[in-house]
Amino acid sequence: MVEQNKDSSVSIAKSILGDKAQLDYSIAKFTTYKVGGNASLFLEVNTIEDLKLVHKAISASDIEVLVIGKGSNMLISDDGFDGLAILMGEGFSSFDIEQNRIKAGASLAMPVLARRSVANWFQGLEWAVGIPGSVGGGVKMNAGGHGSQISSHLVNAAVFDLKEGHLYNLSNSNLDFSYRHSCLLSHQVVCWAEFEVEKGDKDQGEGLISEIVHWRRTNQPGGQNAGSVFTNPPRESAGKLIELAGCKGMEFRSAQVSEKHANFIQSSPNGSSKDIASLMEIVSNEVEKKYNIKLIPEVKLVGFKDSK
Ligand SMILES: Cc1cc2nc3c(=O)[nH]c(=O)nc-3n(C[C@H](O)[C@H](O)[C@H](O)COP(=O)(O)OP(=O)(O)OC[C@H]3O[C@@H](n4cnc5c(N)ncnc54)[C@H](O)[C@@H]3O)c2cc1C
Repeated sequence: MVEQNKDSSVSIAKSILGDKAQLDYSIAKFTTYKVGGNASLFLEVNTIEDLKLVHKAISASDIEVLVIGKGSNMLISDDGFDGLAILMGEGFSSFDIEQNRIKAGASLAMPVLARRSVANWFQGLEWAVGIPGSVGGGVKMNAGGHGSQISSHLVNAAVFDLKEGHLYNLSNSNLDFSYRHSCLLSHQVVCWAEFEVEKGDKDQGEGLISEIVHWRRTNQPGGQNAGSVFTNPPRESAGKLIELAGCKGMEFRSAQVSEKHANFIQSSPNGSSKDIASLMEIVSNEVEKKYNIKLIPEVKLVGFKDSK
């Protein structure tokens, strides 16, 4: 196949996706950092039919694709994303119960999953109230906290493969989960996820949810951030290492290492991704210099050089 140039890939994809797809569209607003540039092409997807159309568009154009959930673990470069960004829309926000299983749509917010599960007298998913992401992003990242994680409860995920053009189920063991990792590739879109839960006491569940929310408010900063920027190295805490390396509160132009939690980097309202990425590099270098430990970004860097 003759390689197409980027502009023609975008126009081929646009011609297949039609009017609902937007050219040169700002995607910063779909992320918790709220900074960064435009996607060459943008589409909100709400049905499997929409995903089939995306499959058709990428097959014909070879355009790169980015799936956005709640954008709470993503930093978009100031230069934007040279490809098709798809946002998981409300059409994928279902919540269904069958016996001891909850089937949740990919765009359902994790805190909603936690609260609805407790409201239906189930226990086990309370921890998810502290994670401002979506179910789909949670599966991709094996999100977790407060002693649990997605992989402890997930039975299987329905995944639409944008390269193959069809939907299949991946079981927990097929997803090769480890700490903040699944084996899902960028063309594999989680549409629904099924969790096994146990019957529990509603009042106790609500109490636990309140405790978690309180803990988060006390220990983590608000504002524009994407949670932990680095994963914890084995047997270490990235936040502690950053603090001990003297970087807590460090500022670089519009970005600052949080005074409240050193593994959070915050952006000021009109900040830039470049400043956040530069501060990540400074912090990482300081930790490496002092402890000979290379910090690995947890936040997904989109559209940066070498970020694939
Ligand atoms: C204040 C704050 C606190 C946080 N605390 C925690 C925490 O305690 N524990 C934790 O694990 N994380 C935490 N995070 C990070 C983040 O919330 C999680 O990583 C979350 O799972 C990301 O979900 P998302 O929908 O926002 O994903 P996005 O940021 O939209 O995307 C993240 C990755 O998942 C992919 N993706 C998104 N949706 C899908 C889908 N449907 N199918 C396939 N791939 C998809 C994206 O392409 C990208 O690669 C925190 C973030 C913030 C802002």
